[in-house]
Amino acid sequence: MPPVRKKVVKPAAVAAQTPKSAPAKPPAQEQQPAQAQPPPPKPQQPLKPLAWGLLPAEWKAACAEFRQPAFRAKQIWKWLQQRRAISWDAMTDIPTALRDKLAERYDITAWTDDAYEQSADDGVRKLLLCCRDGVRIESVIIPARDQSTLCISSQAGCAFGCAFCATGKCGFERNLDPGEIVGQFVAAAAVATRRLTHVVFMGMGEPFANYDNVIKAVRILNDFDGIAIGARRMTLSTCGVVPGIERLATENLQVELSVSLHAPNDELRSKIMPVNKRWPMSELMAACDNYTRTTGRVITFEYTLVDGFNNLPEHADRLIELIKPMRGRVNLIPLSPVEHFDGVAPDMESCEAFARRLQKAAINVTLRRSKGKGVTAACGQLRLSRLAAAASAQIPVSDI
Ligand code: SAH
Ligand code: SF4
Repeated sequence: MPPVRKKVVKPAAVAAQTPKSAPAKPPAQEQQPAQAQPPPPKPQQPLKPLAWGLLPAEWKAACAEFRQPAFRAKQIWKWLQQRRAISWDAMTDIPTALRDKLAERYDITAWTDDAYEQSADDGVRKLLLCCRDGVRIESVIIPARDQSTLCISSQAGCAFGCAFCATGKCGFERNLDPGEIVGQFVAAAAVATRRLTHVVFMGMGEPFANYDNVIKAVRILNDFDGIAIGARRMTLSTCGVVPGIERLATENLQVELSVSLHAPNDELRSKIMPVNKRWPMSELMAACDNYTRTTGRVITFEYTLVDGFNNLPEHADRLIELIKPMRGRVNLIPLSPVEHFDGVAPDMESCEAFARRLQKAAINVTLRRSKGKGVTAACGQLRLSRLAAAASAQIPVSDI
């Protein structure tokens, strides 16, 4: 994996790297005559699996296939997941012939380009990473008190089209594979100034629409002999994909679950989250209730406050009715402005009043003012991620 170059770029320069602003059609007068056009491109070779996306058992199987002793699998795992080797050649205690075979079968380089970085004055850093097929994704490093959280993407784009979400607006490109998910951690860890202690799946995409790859990545990140992020320090966030919540309840994984609720009834929720038409709130809350009972774990409900839309006292009261029976926590997020959505965040006084109403009903609630200025302020996802970090640090309203 190439080293990630620290590069502070202006938003416009970043935008120029994204697929959205990529090649517009050339003006008609610049087009080549038909006979001078190059031959059609050859069909692309399928990409090799990324080494970062294999579990220890898969390395064992691969080594058995290469007629290698089992300890080689452990060596490879350590080189990758502990020492974060960025080339096969770095694995000096592995025979050259085996290294050649590994290089033939697996890619160790997840990103084709250096990462572009935006930094904010409060230490938040956003990385734009270019996948091997040119798709670009973002990961965000969020320092907070004595911890450091990495917000990672599970998909390039998202098909769920929530009205207030910048990623949803861009549509869906593709699922990320486990190596690309773990690779985000490796890239971020290489540039982070502090050890990354937490991972939240709150970047681009819906984790439960890429369930198998996300869970595999969680298991790799969690492995004690590798990156070793504790399961309780990882948070999966879903917009309400009920089958995903049901499956997670059976995984025996101690990960945290966040559910993006954002409204206290079907009428409002369906206006901003199309997913609510597929899995309405009765089904969603039943799945959450079942998850809590089966796992004994508490769910965090994300609630983005939009002025005049979902921040009235009756909305808070309905929210309390919904989540109190399952001891749910609430993470309040003042809406981060996005161009295509005409809602605005309530003023902080109003956000605090909403939070206090929940607190009075003995709901565990977090709310954090945005400190973001400059380059990061434009990015809704980025701002949200910082709030998520506050939530995972369990900073109470009174402490902010
Ligand atoms: N797809 C998953 C995870 C990625 S989105 C989900 O929806 O939960 C992570 C969080 O960002 C979600 O809670 C989402 O609702 C929130 N979000 C997206 N755009 C936002 C905005 N403009 N302001 C505040 N929160 C936003
Ligand atoms: Fe997708 Fe989550 Fe954005 Fe909705 S909020 S569009 S589910 S990334």
